Amino acid sequence: MLTVFGTVALDTTRTPFHTVERTLGGTATFASIAASNYVPTSIVGIVGNDFPASYMEILKNRLDIRGLSISETDKTFHYDSSFGYDLYKRTTNKTELNVISNYQSTVPTAFVDSEYVYLANNDPVQNMNLLRQVSHPKLVICDTMDFWILNKRDDVIRMINKVDGIILNESEARLLFKENSILKCARLIVSNGPSFALINKGENGSLLFYENEFYPIPGYPTETIKDPTGAGDSFGGAFIGYLCTQGQINSKSLKNAMIHGNIMGSFAIEDYGIQRLVNIGNKDIKQRYEKYKEILSL
Ligand code: AMP
Repeated sequence: MLTVFGTVALDTTRTPFHTVERTLGGTATFASIAASNYVPTSIVGIVGNDFPASYMEILKNRLDIRGLSISETDKTFHYDSSFGYDLYKRTTNKTELNVISNYQSTVPTAFVDSEYVYLANNDPVQNMNLLRQVSHPKLVICDTMDFWILNKRDDVIRMINKVDGIILNESEARLLFKENSILKCARLIVSNGPSFALINKGENGSLLFYENEFYPIPGYPTETIKDPTGAGDSFGGAFIGYLCTQGQINSKSLKNAMIHGNIMGSFAIEDYGIQRLVNIGNKDIKQRYEKYKEILSL
């Protein structure tokens, strides 16, 4: 079983073409919906008293939501961001932590023996608190972002120390280590404990560092991009979801997991919020996987 911990949010996303307000988002939302295409997935997190019942229904239809608490007194985490015409570089307008600011993460007894744990981007202290409650995880992967690197860098490093793998985007990796080369960043991540580092470069694909080798993989070519929000989390969810089906970590399973991550990221950006992700199935994933293999064959 896979347990995903992170934010369940209301997102306001502004692009030059369209704005969506308070749509269902959050790192745990994207990651767990993506992962649920591969493996039964449970989500742990908290929402507020303004969280729409229709959004809860979407989560309930795909995930085990016994670990999702509802606060009666506070509002849901809200993230407001804008993109320019490149639909890649994001500007954060507002991060309203609300319910997550004093959240004490509790793992329901049913998930304590989860073999796989994905710590989606969230407060690193809360992530570590959650991880302590899981008895013997076989594989733990985490993500983080600029907000936590800038506000709790030491805790981010402590968290990295406790996981098997980390997924970051290129600007976060550079910010974390104050280093221009993402290859050097990947080495620095691994020198802090994890056995692999995965750095995402948007439409330019991703880079894996594992057992002293670099493995670059191109991105899946996507012509329709509406909203890049959640691409990284969808990548992460599919990446660990696929690994759950493989049972072992080696360069082959990691490279295939990257391909599945890129495929899921390519779906996520094709519509606003989670709209595209909840409308795909195994057939769509398989189709893109076959296409990917064709593109990569030399
Ligand atoms: P990404 O995959 O990087 O595009 O992540 C987008 C998601 O991150 C959005 O749905 C936001 O709700 C969520 N988010 C934004 N800022 C934070 C933060 N500081 N901590 C946790 N989640 C966040």
